[in-house]
Amino acid sequence: MIVDTELNQIDIWVDHEKNIQVMCPECEKFYSVYDHSPERVYQHLNVCQMKTFIHVRLLRVNCPVHGVKQIYSEFGENGSDMTYEFEKLIIDISKECSIESIGRLYSIRWDRCWNVVDRAVKRGQARKEHAIPTRLGVDEKSFARGHKYETIVTNIDKGTVEYVADDREQESLEAYYKQFNKEELKSVEAVAMDMWDPFIAATKKYIPDAHKKIVFDKFHTVGYVTKAVDKTRIAEHKALNESGDQTLKGTKYIWLWNEENVPEWRKEYYYALKALDLKTSKACAIKDNFRHLWDYKYEACMRKYFDKWYFWATHSQIAPMIKAAKTLKVHIDNIVTYAKHRITNALGESINAKIEKVKRMACGFRNRQHYRSAIYFHCGGLDLYPYPPVKPCLRYRLA
Ligand SMILES: [Zn+2]
Repeated sequence: MIVDTELNQIDIWVDHEKNIQVMCPECEKFYSVYDHSPERVYQHLNVCQMKTFIHVRLLRVNCPVHGVKQIYSEFGENGSDMTYEFEKLIIDISKECSIESIGRLYSIRWDRCWNVVDRAVKRGQARKEHAIPTRLGVDEKSFARGHKYETIVTNIDKGTVEYVADDREQESLEAYYKQFNKEELKSVEAVAMDMWDPFIAATKKYIPDAHKKIVFDKFHTVGYVTKAVDKTRIAEHKALNESGDQTLKGTKYIWLWNEENVPEWRKEYYYALKALDLKTSKACAIKDNFRHLWDYKYEACMRKYFDKWYFWATHSQIAPMIKAAKTLKVHIDNIVTYAKHRITNALGESINAKIEKVKRMACGFRNRQHYRSAIYFHCGGLDLYPYPPVKPCLRYRLA
């Protein structure tokens, strides 16, 4: 052992006793030591706050059946330059802080940290049971500013990300479904998604009876009507402004709020605005009523309510509202499936929030592979740790 106080580092060399046998990793039978691989260095947990390294030459066995094999290392995983304990620590810290800060705390290079994350994800995915969740959420997420997207498939019941694919094309989602056989795909009961044609097409192609299982997300659906309110306000404000009327100036966000979210101090103003005889107030009332669609328990009731609302919206003489109502009418069959399945992509939204945090922590990603790994790492619900071999790989030679 060498303690270097200047480098603040401890190096430990580990050797084995002479009288041992080693286990073939394939058949788990014991044979004499064949030879030693070149020295490997594992970084270990700090000792007395000093960086600590373990130097070891791993043993190899010559199994009559499986040939020359390196035995499982009791120090660290094959391909890793960290001990099991140190790698677990880096995984734990990676969950809490950015790759950059780990680098600073432990003097570990950026790419070495990413290696830990990548390996942890691969390990977790290899351990994960091959199964398709019964209730899925499909969402899109922008990868960077501009128009790069990722398709994100979530397990609604477990709150985990199941799959991340490039872009938001039909093929992006199909690549997920393709991993499963017909029987497995049949077990899917419901899929929450936005009204996005490529996702609809992929799901209809792969999931039997998809027309009964696709549920358009409540919040995304309401979003169409909210946008119509905003467009109405913009047009009306322009018209009013021309005659010097500033009533709608600076009111954008007030109209986008749902009643229950209006802060106390804005409530008086909110109700006063809504009471005005404006097209925007009317559009806002239409939006508020539309949200009650999801209060109904039965599909037939939802349809009946929608028809009434649709009549009102399409006779409002508010062009953006008429357009939104017509779009929703086209998709109504998979809006009312909510009555049966009662799912939304709200989970997807909370995962989105988590991904935003991951993005900030990573200070941007140098490539898509890292971005994907980080999503699986933080949101995949995977068992990420490396574990040492369960059975001892060395034993004393039997007399
Ligand atoms: Zn063997």
